[in-house]
Amino acid sequence: MINHTETILIGGNWRAADGGESFEVMDPSTGRSIGRASDGTRRDIGDAIDAASAAFDAWAGTTAYERAAVLQRAHDLMRERTEELADLMTREQGKPLRAARNEVGYAADFLAWFAGEAVRAGGETIPSSRADQRFITLRQPVGVVAAITPWNYPISMITRKLGPAIAAGCTSVLKPASQTPLCAVATVKLLEDAGVPAGVVNLVTTRRSREFADLVIESDAVRKLTFTGSTEIGRDLAGRAGANMKRVSVELGGHAPFIVFEDADPVHAAKGAALVKFLNTGQACISPNRIYVHRSLYEAFLDTLQTRVAALKVGQGTEPGVAIGPLIDERAVAKMEQQVRDAREKGARVVLGGERATVDGLAGETFFAPTVLADVAPEMIISREETFGPIAAVTPFDSEEEVLALANDTEYGLAAYVYTNDLARAIRVSERLRFGMVGVNDINPTSAAAPFGGVKYSGLGREGGSQGIDEYLDVKLIGISV
Ligand code: NAP
Repeated sequence: MINHTETILIGGNWRAADGGESFEVMDPSTGRSIGRASDGTRRDIGDAIDAASAAFDAWAGTTAYERAAVLQRAHDLMRERTEELADLMTREQGKPLRAARNEVGYAADFLAWFAGEAVRAGGETIPSSRADQRFITLRQPVGVVAAITPWNYPISMITRKLGPAIAAGCTSVLKPASQTPLCAVATVKLLEDAGVPAGVVNLVTTRRSREFADLVIESDAVRKLTFTGSTEIGRDLAGRAGANMKRVSVELGGHAPFIVFEDADPVHAAKGAALVKFLNTGQACISPNRIYVHRSLYEAFLDTLQTRVAALKVGQGTEPGVAIGPLIDERAVAKMEQQVRDAREKGARVVLGGERATVDGLAGETFFAPTVLADVAPEMIISREETFGPIAAVTPFDSEEEVLALANDTEYGLAAYVYTNDLARAIRVSERLRFGMVGVNDINPTSAAAPFGGVKYSGLGREGGSQGIDEYLDVKLIGISV
């Protein structure tokens, strides 16, 4: 049992919530408590904003080299602590240990990447039409940043925001998801150990997420809101923060199409689909939600997919060989049941799974059997609504035009996948897919070095890549008469 009752960090002091309230943190595999986190109040949130505000001038005044050194140390520490962080993540969030280790590596990559970007964040000189004038630009930190993060990638979603904030010279107030506050505590402690000064990163664990958002949006001191989570909440926050003239970046839901053309290898494509669809038990914003397979390859693709998925072991993430952990909560399992029921009623075939799974020795109600649905049609709920769970929904198609229309027929626009051996088609289709990221014969088009983000209702802004730090910098123009 992890015993944290002082999980709020304000101005360098760890403390309990004002009033002393705390909440239980559960292992989704067992339904049992693994510890508690402080339940921050209005007072705590206000104090955190004040602390970030007070620390801003000094932090913005450090050199980029100092900030880069801190981030590099944080990266090294995160690599050293991989096992303990992964173990905590598996117990708090449920993903298998191997996947948790991978996430810690991905999270550390953002710290190293933004250590590099810190020292490259320079301005430019611009020619003027006047002979006696010069222009230069400075790139300066936006100010205090409020960051709200989700539970599905409970460490990397934090470093993807705090990495560039620290690099740019911003100070922050972080509110992690209430299902995974302990991963946030471990990450912020690590930043502290790496030398991030008091007040530069402040953490409020709380179940009062709406109140947190209201306070940071109302605060004049907070200059930017960065949010990763559902489209519904992100739209609301982006609208309200925008009305208060905050810089806003939001990384939201997805509904990725995964297209297998007639010139692709159906076995290779099905192996790829089995891997990427079931990563993190399907609880990923870039998870394929609609798999479109050319009719000529349809049965061959389904055969391999079914064989691969049937071999995925369901269980507690700490057990060796487990590939599919629990869903985050009972509500998520009910959503799987509803999507399967609806699809079946409207004519889909359940090729595999389709129901809750029980795991020997575990009382948890959060396991769902890895599922393959065939003959999925656009009118089914699963074709519209983000599944966020272990269901592969497969649909046949006949032509490139038809599948492009189907793929783009969504309000989301985060990731898309294309399998083809025709180079011209790969380029043509990538250009016409209205998504922020396209994997071509590739199931993981993500890296700290590459811009991550969506279009349409999947979000605003980019995280990672050379673009990631721009979200935390204002451009200032200086015109000089000479
Ligand atoms: P969520 O319910 O929107 O929660 C995300 C965060 O927002 C949590 O910290 C949550 O706090 C907070 N929150 C909830 N209600 C709020 C409110 N009214 N005001 C302010 N904050 C609020 O999303 P989720 O279910 O945790 O995460 C899954 C979603 O995130 C999926 O849609 C997924 O696609 C998306 N996602 C997107 C990306 C990306 O990069 N595009 C990456 C990962 C996940 P509490 O926990 O306290 O409620």
